[in-house]
Amino acid sequence: MHEFSLVRSLLEQVERIVTEQGGRAAVEVRVEIGPLSGVEPLLVKEAFSQLSVDATLIIDEVPLMARCHSCAREFELKDFRFACPHCNSRETSIVRGDTFRLMSVTVDISDVVAAARTSDELLETVSPS
Ligand SMILES: [Zn+2]
Repeated sequence: MHEFSLVRSLLEQVERIVTEQGGRAAVEVRVEIGPLSGVEPLLVKEAFSQLSVDATLIIDEVPLMARCHSCAREFELKDFRFACPHCNSRETSIVRGDTFRLMSVTVDISDVVAAARTSDELLETVSPS
């Protein structure tokens, strides 16, 4: 299960942020998982509970969003139909929903709780064949 190593590198990233913030520990870790990320949320939860300290994991399961090159509108891709619902063009590209990444970490800095944000991509996207 590759989620285990994904969560392990996620926690390394979290640890780094905690250190940067001079905090004691992460209390909340928020990740985004898209339908095309190749990552199974349930397995991430499981791996997290086995590897993590005491932080709460929050998973945002985001929809698969695409942008049409012809009419420039964004729409949700359903059932992997890669055609624009507005103009029927097939010239589309995915703008969201193909990644597993760290969104934010809430760090316990004694009595103050600060949220450190990161927009770094954690991993390369994995697309189904
Ligand atoms: Zn369109």
